[in-house]
Amino acid sequence: MKKNNLNNLLNMPEKSIKVFRTISKVNEILIQKYGIPFRPQNPPNPVDMLIATILSQNTNDKNSYRAFLHLKNNYRDWYEVAALSVSRIVREIKIAGLAEQKSKAIKNLLTSLIEKNGSISLEYLLKFSNEEILKELTNYKGIGIKTASCVLLFSFKKNICPVDTHVHRTTNRIGIVCTKAPDKTFLILNKNLPQEIAHSFHTNLIRLGREICKPTNQNCFICPLKNICRYSEKNFKIRTASKENKFLLLDNI
Ligand code: SF4
Repeated sequence: MKKNNLNNLLNMPEKSIKVFRTISKVNEILIQKYGIPFRPQNPPNPVDMLIATILSQNTNDKNSYRAFLHLKNNYRDWYEVAALSVSRIVREIKIAGLAEQKSKAIKNLLTSLIEKNGSISLEYLLKFSNEEILKELTNYKGIGIKTASCVLLFSFKKNICPVDTHVHRTTNRIGIVCTKAPDKTFLILNKNLPQEIAHSFHTNLIRLGREICKPTNQNCFICPLKNICRYSEKNFKIRTASKENKFLLLDNI
């Protein structure tokens, strides 16, 4: 996302008490269904988080986790990875797909951090506001608003809800937002997010999207949100229980 677009998004007045209340209700219902999601005591290192999130684009958590481990286990540290050629990084992360594009983004991020700060560290961001961190991180090539917001939520423990494909789809179906673009969904959710719920709301919505409210064949019969969901194409034909899918890469870095 271009910097100007991000500025425009962040400045839009989208506060709504109705959205705030619906988010609270959905969060409550999902906690009743799935519980409060696991969260490691020590938050992941923000550079690890950024690289894991780059690797997770357009693939499943299992494959991106394996690619992440290839880099972590085969090299001493991120400085060694920064010194690799793009084609070597491609070989290491192939399993995550889009390897060329992701390798360039990783190489660019690591070398830019060294050039800019003299070290591969993102701790300097801690003195910035959430919006400043988003602007700073999205300046790096290959890092969009979703990737940057994952650092805010998972590493810096901020009350920011990243919007991936599951969060975008489910919040539109439920009727919390009515948007075409995930970045617009991100803006509306985060302007109206109750305190300290981002992690459970985000994580449980992903689980709902993987297990029940799938892109096709949504299983509305067993959905805990069926009484408040406003989706016009609910599907009550499937009656079988869904398979658990609760491993979340970004909480296991
Ligand atoms: S009721 Fe159906 S469409 Fe609505 S959230 Fe649940 S699974 Fe998705």
